[in-house]
Amino acid sequence: MVADEGRQRHDAGRSAAGGAPERSEEEEALRRMRHSTAHVMAQAVLERYPAAKMGIGPPIQHGFYYDFDLGRDASGRPLTFTPDDLEAIEERMRQIVAGRHPYRYREVTADEAKRLFVDQPFKLELLEELAAGGVDEYGEPVHGAVPISVYEHDTFVDLCRGPHVPDTGHIEGDAFKLLTTAAAYWRGDERRETLQRIYGTAWRSRAELEAHLDRLAEIEKRDHRRLGTDLDLFSTAPEQVGGGLVLWHARGGLVRHLIEEFAKERHLAGGYDLVYTPHIGRAALWQTSGHLDFFRENMYAPVEIDGQEYYLKPMNCPFHIMIYKSRRRSYRDLPMRLAEWGTVYRYERSGVLHGLMRVRGFTQDDAHLFVAPDDVDAAIAEVLDFSIDLFQAFGFTEFGVNVSTMPAKAVGDPADWARATTALIGAVEARGLPFVLREGEGAFYGPKIDIDIEDALGRAWQCTTIQFDFNLPEKFGLTYADADGEMRRPYMVHRALFGSMERFFGVLLEHYGGAFPVWLSPVQATVIPIADRHVPYALEVGRALRERGLRVDVDTRDDRMRAKIRDAQLQKVPYMLVVGDREAASGTVAVRLRTEVDLGAMSLEQLGRRMADEVERHALVEGEGAA
Ligand code: ZN
Repeated sequence: MVADEGRQRHDAGRSAAGGAPERSEEEEALRRMRHSTAHVMAQAVLERYPAAKMGIGPPIQHGFYYDFDLGRDASGRPLTFTPDDLEAIEERMRQIVAGRHPYRYREVTADEAKRLFVDQPFKLELLEELAAGGVDEYGEPVHGAVPISVYEHDTFVDLCRGPHVPDTGHIEGDAFKLLTTAAAYWRGDERRETLQRIYGTAWRSRAELEAHLDRLAEIEKRDHRRLGTDLDLFSTAPEQVGGGLVLWHARGGLVRHLIEEFAKERHLAGGYDLVYTPHIGRAALWQTSGHLDFFRENMYAPVEIDGQEYYLKPMNCPFHIMIYKSRRRSYRDLPMRLAEWGTVYRYERSGVLHGLMRVRGFTQDDAHLFVAPDDVDAAIAEVLDFSIDLFQAFGFTEFGVNVSTMPAKAVGDPADWARATTALIGAVEARGLPFVLREGEGAFYGPKIDIDIEDALGRAWQCTTIQFDFNLPEKFGLTYADADGEMRRPYMVHRALFGSMERFFGVLLEHYGGAFPVWLSPVQATVIPIADRHVPYALEVGRALRERGLRVDVDTRDDRMRAKIRDAQLQKVPYMLVVGDREAASGTVAVRLRTEVDLGAMSLEQLGRRMADEVERHALVEGEGAA
């Protein structure tokens, strides 16, 4: 239950089928072309590796993939594709494309299909399920029976429903590229065979391809895992500590502390109460909350204490409810907003763990609101404004908002659902945010708002959930006394804002490419003496700025000035302060920004004031402070 709260998102490419969102005609055309390119690639792979066994090859965002089992080498290890393979396969694909081979659709009987794929055990497995009905050619569930169909072009045939482009000439020979290979479990199941996946991208023109490759390079450069290592922010040690469990280093820990400190102050100012709750709780608590019924597969095995079972918490809600229940509540106590930076643990399959984005232990900036039904409009408007304002303070300005309403199967009074949904929509409209109404897509226990934030590369990250819950107040028998002394049931709202501190930190890191605003930078300035004789003055500069509360390093290494500047730039230090004879004599520093802007000579007083002002204002861009 409350599975969406602080949800971690699957960023992996989804297969073509199953819950696919509606797409524009243009997107459909691209998918058709990309899927056709996947067939061409599979042909080229089979020509190179005639014994290869094919998995599936769907179109995905920006491209396609196809999985293969290439067999094993002499020592029993699975054979993998080499860079040479990719080059040769790509080359062969260009020939096939140039051949303008038509794609031919054909419906076949189960027997004929079995003959066609007699050497392809994975296809036979899919075929069996396809023949039984209820799944498509990727093994994804579908409604009703699907005819068994194949698509053929040139010498290649695949179990496939299509659609495809008319012929391979509709694929631009210079607008696709094979990108990477990866191991992938057959059907995503770690108990099944490990296959070799080739990812490719395909576009309508060379220019589009190049723009996409540039973007991929930028994404790669900003990869939070790489920046985490380069900037010494965090690490994981899957072999010793465990996968999906994050070690925050001094610098990453400092940035996280600054984010939390700032957010906590905002929470206190916004009428939230900060609470702390345990990491484990008795089985009975999770039984009452329903987690053991509905969320157990995400929970870890219990530990036993004094003959009682205790579970590591996957969520904070039941504890906050127990705080609410710890005394008799009246309407005067409401709305009550309990907030906690609560660290939770959830089981995730090892294959989906990804840096800070998908982990097994994470800290939610979690809050639970207990609200009198009459106050719900104001309370929701407030929590929405609060969330958006906080994101803006971190430099996010574009948001994607979804409002999900009552599904067919739901608990609670429909009148309460209607009231809550009105409050959610009213709040979004009052804020002037465009939103998508997802009819019937709410959880069974209440409607919700989801907010995606858009990063500097235009990627959307789901962070915030504002989720009503008509189930838990019932289960735990929550009440408050209204003005007439009558006992009533409060509304309960789950709210995770950043969602997970780990994930938000990862998003922030990629958004800024590691170049955090000055107030968040672990090192705000590096003093760089030009020669050895300037070291004493450099140390003096460092001391003076540190006295103002600024985080300043002095680079006293015996290295050339250029190298020191480059290092500071690589470390994304916002201010580089170069000092030589002239600066030492005049009590100044030569100020250079990591953006390579040269601010010239400034007095220590002037610079100190400017930097302190930027920190104070939480300025998002350095060097623009009032000096
Ligand atoms: Zn909750």
